[in-house]
Amino acid sequence: MSIIFQNSFQSLPRFFFEEIEPTPLRDASLLHVSSLRQELGLSEVPDHEFRTWLNGESRIEGDQRIATRYAGHQFGVWAGQLGDGRAVSLGEILSPEDTGADFGISRGIGRREVQVKGLGKTPFSRFGDGKAVLRSCIREYLCAEAMHALGIPTTRSLAILAGTGAVEREEVETEASVVRVFPSQVRFGHFEMAKHFDRKSELGALIEYTLTQIYPGHSVESMLAEVIDRTARMIALWQSVGFCHGVMNTDNMSILGLTLDYGPFGFMEDFNSQHICNLSDREGRYAYVRQPHVGMENLERLLVCFTDHVPRERLIALLETFPERYREHYLFVMRQKLGLVEARAGDAVFLQSLWSTLEQCRVDSTFFFRSLSRYESGKIGSMDSFFESYPVLREDASLVVRWLKEFDDRIKLEGSTDSARIEGMLQKNPKFVLKNPVAGAVIAATGFSEGTLIGECLRVLQSPFEEHPEMEGHPHFGFWARPLPEALKNRALSCSS
Ligand code: AMP
Ligand code: MG
Repeated sequence: MSIIFQNSFQSLPRFFFEEIEPTPLRDASLLHVSSLRQELGLSEVPDHEFRTWLNGESRIEGDQRIATRYAGHQFGVWAGQLGDGRAVSLGEILSPEDTGADFGISRGIGRREVQVKGLGKTPFSRFGDGKAVLRSCIREYLCAEAMHALGIPTTRSLAILAGTGAVEREEVETEASVVRVFPSQVRFGHFEMAKHFDRKSELGALIEYTLTQIYPGHSVESMLAEVIDRTARMIALWQSVGFCHGVMNTDNMSILGLTLDYGPFGFMEDFNSQHICNLSDREGRYAYVRQPHVGMENLERLLVCFTDHVPRERLIALLETFPERYREHYLFVMRQKLGLVEARAGDAVFLQSLWSTLEQCRVDSTFFFRSLSRYESGKIGSMDSFFESYPVLREDASLVVRWLKEFDDRIKLEGSTDSARIEGMLQKNPKFVLKNPVAGAVIAATGFSEGTLIGECLRVLQSPFEEHPEMEGHPHFGFWARPLPEALKNRALSCSS
């Protein structure tokens, strides 16, 4: 069997892409390769060839080297042309047996695009150097796989490479690249690019391409409804695990509703609805609580591109479905987290009470939900592991105890057994998410020691609902499953990458 490429993006007008010559990392080494290599049939490519291909040094017959042109609104402001300033697409590999399941799409579209981030300047680099630093590559590599294991639609990680070259950021850092995979990278910004530069025929071609290659069987309107639904679902899932994207610009929004472009993202520790994970986001435009609103604003920017193709009133009506789509997904996801099967009229209020309790008590929400997954109704003692970390909250009539009583009442309406609920909840509330200090430990250990911690960390992130008792007392990750010390919680990161 040989690798079959079907580089469908190249069927679009040249306006949307440029062929480029990548700049390989110096003395590149593969730091880690994920199981996707096998799934994509890339295991049959010998290691050496696989590495040099990913590093832009060699070709595989039928591949490509393109960077795409897109635009976008960044922090609410029109930013004009952006494009793949440091990413090269090596080709779309045809996988005929693809079910689409790994990208949260019900129907496979049969292609997996392999894109490398960090191989030098492209015609879209603007002021950038086209490089990526090891630190950010490790974070993206780990987080995409973590999100996938949590059941959140995302781009996936294939490999991470490091070079011996230096990259200048605030400090001099190690050059690296991260290789990601998705069925299609079409972003809202690709549509905005054609629309705002008044390229009517190119926009028409892009819409036609999206319909035939990404959303087969849809009309333009039903495709847009699907994009709205997927975006709503993705953000509802983010909210449920306390994930903040950090840079929800329209150029970072995927037409498939995949979490895309991991920059200064973060999983919150202590629940804080106003949390801002990006240090550059001084006004909190992309604060946790605003993510659903921003999702809708970004969808509006997308729908505006369709004014020549769908009547205006229809576009407005479509956009207005977003809050309800979001609400439905959010309630569904949260009920699952709480082991509730039936929908009840008071659920939104009940959930609000949960989040505000968590916010007032300043507790680690991942740790709380995981502890709650062993709660036996009416038995505060079953939450001992939680209260051991927060003894002060155990005092009578504390907020948590009061909320647990609300939970007892809500559980009673279900008529389910504790054991069935507990079993379900343990599959929906992860014990492990990618905390910043965990990524920090991996970063610190990479490049200094012989091996790296990437594989070990990934193994846990890929099975976040398992107990992993071996992590207790682990020399690097021993702290992972417990609440962090005050000084390390909810830290924001800079945009520099
Ligand atoms: P991001 O903030 O990563 O979503 O990037 C926004 C835009 O800046 C995209 O067009 C990127 O390709 C581009 N970009 C980010 N970092 C670099 C870099 N180091 N060199 C060139 N372009 C970059
Ligand atoms: Mg981006």
